[in-house]
Amino acid sequence: SREVCPEPSQVEIQPGLVFGGDELIVMAGPCSVESEQQIVETAHAVKRAGARILRGGAFKPRTSPYSFQGMEEDGLKLLATAREETGLPIITEVVNPRDVELVARYSDIMQVGARNMQNFALLKMLGQLDKPILLKRGMSATIQEFLMSAEYILAEGNRRVIMCERGIRTFETATRNTLDISAVPVLKEQTHLPVVIDPSHATGHSSLVPSMCYASVAAGCDGLIVEVHPNPEKAASDGPQSLRPAAFADMMMKLKDFADVSGRT
Ligand code: PEP
Ligand code: MN
Repeated sequence: SREVCPEPSQVEIQPGLVFGGDELIVMAGPCSVESEQQIVETAHAVKRAGARILRGGAFKPRTSPYSFQGMEEDGLKLLATAREETGLPIITEVVNPRDVELVARYSDIMQVGARNMQNFALLKMLGQLDKPILLKRGMSATIQEFLMSAEYILAEGNRRVIMCERGIRTFETATRNTLDISAVPVLKEQTHLPVVIDPSHATGHSSLVPSMCYASVAAGCDGLIVEVHPNPEKAASDGPQSLRPAAFADMMMKLKDFADVSGRT
């Protein structure tokens, strides 16, 4: 909390790449890793547009057990190939405690998904790693519960935690979830940890993603995580909310103005 640690803490991913500093850090890439061509092509495109970190899911926590579950270790290997080709660090989700070691071997940031925010066994294991963790807010979690989940990681000794608001469940159906934009200033008041926004899962529609990115930056977030796919119609997961590379590049251009106003680079 701010009482224990009054100054904002910075989470360094590698030298020159820091959450919670002056730079707005954008992570982008497909929901799921699908093939070498798909992930490498997307990695190059998002890098060209200014993204600093590549996202891609290899283990997918799908609502239906009959939906695509991810390429697993083969997907992690393709992420590593994309990192070699572009130099972009990788963020990917770990779903199951038994895969923590495997995912840690390939990733630069470990993502805890909304569905696992209160998987305390998983959080404790991640707390013992020397690896940055991006913790997503559960879709029905209060800010207090979200903070306590972060505490599970910190209490084990890992202080490199990034908080991610990704939309919460409300009565509204026009969007997949409701982006709680006030989570940014509320979290900033209550915790020293960096805060990022995921406008893709928050809205569920690619057309709504750019405006929510601008609003998030204006609200003071430290970064964004955005789904981008070269061919959203053919995506194995979350196509409707995935930006095409050209739309992502356009959004990144416009984002600069909002970043400037918010005093970020
Ligand atoms: C994802 O990032 O693809 C994902 C599954 O997100 P969330 O856990 O926020 O639903
Ligand atoms: Mn997704």
